[in-house]
Amino acid sequence: MYCRQCEQTANHSACTKIGVCGKEETTARAQDCLTWSLMGLAPYAKKALLEGTIQEKVNRFVVEALFSTLTNVNFDSDAIKAFIDESVSIREELKKRLTVDENEASTFFPSKDEEDFKEQGDNISKKLFQGSSDPDVQSLKEITLYAIRGIAAYTDHAAILGRKDNSIYSFIYDTLDAYPRENDLSFWLDKVLKAGEANLRAMEILDEAHTNKYGHPVPTEVPLGHKKGKAILVSGHDLRDLELLLIQTEGKGIYIYTHGEMLPCHGYPELKKYKHFYGHYGTAWQNQQREFAQFPGSILMTTNCLMRPSEAYRERIFTTGVVGYSGLKHIRDKDFTPVIEKALDLPGFQEDYEGKKVLVGFARNTVLSVADKVIELVKSGKIKHFFLVGGCDGARPGRSYYTEFVEKAPKDTLILTLACGKFRFFDKDLGSIEGIPRLLDVGQCNDAYSAIQIALALSKAFNVNVNELPLSLILSWYEQKAVAILTTLLYLGIKNIRLGPTLPAFVSPGVIKVLVENFNVMPIKSVDEDLRTILG
Ligand code: SF4
Repeated sequence: MYCRQCEQTANHSACTKIGVCGKEETTARAQDCLTWSLMGLAPYAKKALLEGTIQEKVNRFVVEALFSTLTNVNFDSDAIKAFIDESVSIREELKKRLTVDENEASTFFPSKDEEDFKEQGDNISKKLFQGSSDPDVQSLKEITLYAIRGIAAYTDHAAILGRKDNSIYSFIYDTLDAYPRENDLSFWLDKVLKAGEANLRAMEILDEAHTNKYGHPVPTEVPLGHKKGKAILVSGHDLRDLELLLIQTEGKGIYIYTHGEMLPCHGYPELKKYKHFYGHYGTAWQNQQREFAQFPGSILMTTNCLMRPSEAYRERIFTTGVVGYSGLKHIRDKDFTPVIEKALDLPGFQEDYEGKKVLVGFARNTVLSVADKVIELVKSGKIKHFFLVGGCDGARPGRSYYTEFVEKAPKDTLILTLACGKFRFFDKDLGSIEGIPRLLDVGQCNDAYSAIQIALALSKAFNVNVNELPLSLILSWYEQKAVAILTTLLYLGIKNIRLGPTLPAFVSPGVIKVLVENFNVMPIKSVDEDLRTILG
């Protein structure tokens, strides 16, 4: 295997024996073959989309299949192989009625013989990740591939709620089709920025999907304690799964708790209206093995980030959607009865525990509703600077930088945060400036669109471009949705991004040079040094 798509890749180079994430070689091989099979399907899907004859289920299938290859989503080789078979079968069906200029992957058939499949997978892996003799081209191709995996995740979430845009599918098919055939540097440089454009649209329709269905998030206090009684913990990112679970558990004497990236769901009016939607339990994804083991109820994993489940909770964790792990119970039809029955069998919490409370709900609508006041506070010097400290969390010790950064940021600065990186500091009391909390939780990583809209609105209000605002982006990355967001920031021309805890292993020195020269992207240094440089 050869996988370097996420931040925790082995030796900051590539996972070659087993993933640091726990991904087995067999799963990695199957995921590479799946990616290749989608590349083979792409020229057909592209033509069918152009002709207006594509079936929506094909579009949905492709984004779900891509989503399943993200870090910490699907560890089940059989499920990945089923995706491959379906991909090839759709391609062969389309071949019956369409004539296209095929690419090299369009003749791929997975072998049913294990040994042959292994050889196929190893060859495909080399083509995908070591196929270009120019390291900069290879790097740009991988950036684009990981970005479309992230875009697929957002597109899938939006499609679940009925929102779609053919321009996004078109970009995905174009990119998949180009991967085996194009090796031109300027072509792939352009693709990286176009990925940013497609991702902006994907995030926009996801934002529309969430706010149309569940309302705009409003400031909401979320208890970190618990209530005496039966309990279900929901992790991942999918709001529709949470809603369905809330509906199916109503009146059953079970409290529902969020974990990880589901925390901001408490701010949505159409979700918070459920009385048994109680509070938040635990922190970021990488702490799940300890936190899930201690949770006294059943657990539902709706999307990434899933880790290898320990024996302590293996029997009471369920997966749904594209997420999967061999041997875990998977709910296909969104009938969560098995999760509910398991919760009723388990002891639940034995007593009430008050705990701290955290504030969520500072997405674009809430922040922009106080824009006039914020502008006045900036003009009067009471707010000197804005920081966006956000992104993915992870296990590396260097991530304590983000906690220290927030702690040391001066009292006349506001901190916007989003995604699970916030769990490094989400329960800290940073005080307020004239009634505006200094720490504003914009939402999930899936809500990066909201943060971008806030920045664009501020730039309009101050009549300057975003790079001239007193705003600094201090980002942490981990997986491929973060790669997609980074391409969007580049597409929007946003400069001076500080990125950590390490730069991606798949970004070559030549591409780093381009990023530095054109966008002044820089690695995080020490907190003191970065604060000094930013604030002068
Ligand atoms: Fe390694 Fe990350 Fe790939 Fe897992 S997803 S195998 S940790 S690079």
